[in-house]
Amino acid sequence: MKIHTENRRYIPVAGEFDVIVCGGGPSGFTAAIAAARHGAKTLLIEKYGFLGGTGTAALMVQFGSIFDGKNILIGGCVHEFLHRLADEGYGKMYTDKTHRMIFDPEGMIAVCQKMVLESGAELLLHSVVTDVILEGDSARGIVVENKSGRSAYMAKIIIDATGDGDIAFRAGEEFSYGNKEGRVQPVSLEFLLGNVNHEKIIGQGLGITLPYIRQAKENGDWKIPSDQFFSWGRVIKRGAPDIPESSFYFINATNALNINGVDAKDLTKAEIECRRQVDDLIYFLQKYVPGFEKCYLDRTAAQVGIRETRRIRGKYTLTQSDILEGKHFDDGIVPGCNSIDVHDINGKEFSHKFLEKETHYQIPWRCFLPEKTKGLIMTGRCISADHHALGSVRVMVVCMPMGEACGYAAALACKENYLLEDLPVEKIKQALRAQGTMI
Ligand SMILES: Cc1cc2nc3c(=O)[nH]c(=O)nc-3n(C[C@H](O)[C@H](O)[C@H](O)COP(=O)(O)OP(=O)(O)OC[C@H]3O[C@@H](n4cnc5c(N)ncnc54)[C@H](O)[C@@H]3O)c2cc1C
Repeated sequence: MKIHTENRRYIPVAGEFDVIVCGGGPSGFTAAIAAARHGAKTLLIEKYGFLGGTGTAALMVQFGSIFDGKNILIGGCVHEFLHRLADEGYGKMYTDKTHRMIFDPEGMIAVCQKMVLESGAELLLHSVVTDVILEGDSARGIVVENKSGRSAYMAKIIIDATGDGDIAFRAGEEFSYGNKEGRVQPVSLEFLLGNVNHEKIIGQGLGITLPYIRQAKENGDWKIPSDQFFSWGRVIKRGAPDIPESSFYFINATNALNINGVDAKDLTKAEIECRRQVDDLIYFLQKYVPGFEKCYLDRTAAQVGIRETRRIRGKYTLTQSDILEGKHFDDGIVPGCNSIDVHDINGKEFSHKFLEKETHYQIPWRCFLPEKTKGLIMTGRCISADHHALGSVRVMVVCMPMGEACGYAAALACKENYLLEDLPVEKIKQALRAQGTMI
């Protein structure tokens, strides 16, 4: 490989903060809100021009349950966020206990932005965090690149909410990737269809597509590397007339295999492949499936959705059995009850493994602390978990409370002058319990 040597550059320090959160997805926007509400001078940096992360950029429309059959597990800003989304007309909550809901991703963008700004956190959009500034083994700041050039931002604590663990990776932390063979779950591009006749489909599960898929295969009209749809459903759009015979539907069915989500060439391949599959799927739906005859493409996601990349190694690694046994820890600070949802590496199947009713697991504080770097917290999809545990912790109703817990922890450490590793976990728990989270 040819090598180009970059010149040494002097860059401005554009700001100094108590806490900098890198990435404005489900775990990042909640971390920023919690840190700012707890008195920390907080900056949230996001590469897109809007918040919500995979939830909005990759066009998610469903939140899972925060009810374990006995307790509503989550309080605080996450609870508030779900209710605001429903109250402002951007979604439909099925029951007040589970909080499961279908929502409009446009609504998530709007509510995330309002809540972050109301918290007092500063926001820097259209900016990519490209490096971490280390002094010895401590993170002291980050480097950002955007249309203004390259600049540094300094902070007492950095929260890595990039989903991919970009900051911890730059700090030289070890990470795990994929299953035992190092292979990751497929990526999918979600899309929305307009003018779907919901009345013809209502009450029927995805199973109705199976005979049509078999028929399309025989006719050479099925070109997707899986034998099924992963999910579909009617979407509530704020302001749109509620007409069952002309509804909006989201479709989760495209599939690109063996894609490394932190490799730009692979991501390019995935975008090209999945966008081709969108055309094929619309053709299939219009031709074979009653209710979709007159559907049209409303919108594709801004990018393919990534299920799995780096899992940064922390002081503890959460395992599949911790989740299925509903394990609690002395330093457990985030409760979760979501099933383990792992998509088959070959794209054919996806499986759910469920916890027992009325149980939930906890994620220990140690899963958020990288092995070496001080002053750095990981939150969201990149935490220290095994391949199967990731299948549960990656969902948004687990990532959001992770962000909230990490935001509080960071603010507490700043306010009371603790190093993160010396911060008494009981103090984080107190702050979360006061918000109604079941710890
Ligand atoms: C196809 C698919 C379907 C899914 N369906 C559901 C579902 O129905 N329900 C559910 O709850 N979950 C679902 N998920 C999972 C869920 O959406 C994600 O796992 C979750 O959003 C992860 O949250 P996060 O905050 O860790 O990361 P992300 O949501 O990925 O957010 C990371 C943010 O950081 C930004 N960023 C990244 N790197 C940088 C950088 N270097 N500098 C600046 N900004 C950066 C990104 O732009 C992004 O905004 C699905 C995932 C996929 C792929």
